[in-house]
Amino acid sequence: MNRPLADFTKDELEAWCEQHGAPGYRAVQIRRWLYGKRVNDFDAMHDVPAKLRECLKSEIALFASEILAHQQASDGTEKLLLQLHDGHRVECVLMREPKRRTVCISTQVGCGMGCVFCASGLLGLTRNLTTGEILEQILRIDRLLGRDERLTNVVVMGIGEPLANLQNLLPALETLNEKGGMGLGARRITISTVGLPEKIRELAQFGKQFNLAVSLHAPNDKLRDRLVPVNDKIGLDAILQATDDFFETTGRRVTFEYVVLGGVNDGMEQARELATLLRGRNAHVNLIPMNPVEETGFDAPLQARLRQFVETLEQTGTPTTIRKRKGADIDAACGQLRLKKEQTVELQP
Ligand code: SAH
Repeated sequence: MNRPLADFTKDELEAWCEQHGAPGYRAVQIRRWLYGKRVNDFDAMHDVPAKLRECLKSEIALFASEILAHQQASDGTEKLLLQLHDGHRVECVLMREPKRRTVCISTQVGCGMGCVFCASGLLGLTRNLTTGEILEQILRIDRLLGRDERLTNVVVMGIGEPLANLQNLLPALETLNEKGGMGLGARRITISTVGLPEKIRELAQFGKQFNLAVSLHAPNDKLRDRLVPVNDKIGLDAILQATDDFFETTGRRVTFEYVVLGGVNDGMEQARELATLLRGRNAHVNLIPMNPVEETGFDAPLQARLRQFVETLEQTGTPTTIRKRKGADIDAACGQLRLKKEQTVELQP
């Protein structure tokens, strides 16, 4: 298979143009068509000479994936299931709010972290996505937007652990941010991690103003070891030290995500413990009521308990928000579509 266009960095595409006897600025034009003008065909790149377009067609793939399913929810959320060149699948989601168009992207096929409530980890990790495959999700979603709509935010919160694939993610984020790429401000990009301390520091050193969200889910190691199995080799102390360093280096306030599992981590005592853990830190808690995944055996919290949890946190001065659920009628949350498809496939003879 030809290497997809989104896999080339600006410098690589310039070099490719020069190898084909074209000036480097042709790369700028080609990238403008891909990232800015939503073309679906090399022939639509009108200002690129026909001869160079022929070379593009024979050596480079405009996209490396195929759209296998496209679903639209009643709240404006849309979801794509993409089939990669080797048959594996990933999903990405478009979420619409009055002033925002946010895309949620995946970074791996499957996930190796094994969080016990998460659908993505049930089948384990298959492989990392390439830089092109990561970017392509954004390009595909961008092409679903209306003429007057623009992508405003990207959240790296789909399938996979982004910081376990930082080597392919960083060039994708660079293109996303760069003027000749998607031109999206770093502050509009959020990366969610299970909490890999050294990788958090590496991300900070990259020197961009990205938002970091850390999936805490428990206020102590005993409970976190149970919910997030990789925690037993890491521990909350090391994670919080790394997020303190991230804040110091970037000046960006860190978000702590907390999946609220009914009867498991939603008690007032746990809210108080969480507040104590985060006291003195410039932090923000984002509560995610569990999206039920049948296979995991966990449930969403009762509304009254959730409210109590929030009130307890707020009384301690911890800024807290509750994540709104989007696209519920199309299984837009947390790896559910891919899981369903994989199960369907497995059932076939
Ligand atoms: N590996 C990254 C990205 C995971 S997806 C991370 O761990 O942060 C983004 C968030 O959704 C994470 O906080 C993840 O724990 C959470 N999540 C996973 N399954 C969920 C479910 N069934 N209900 C609610 N949130 C879930």
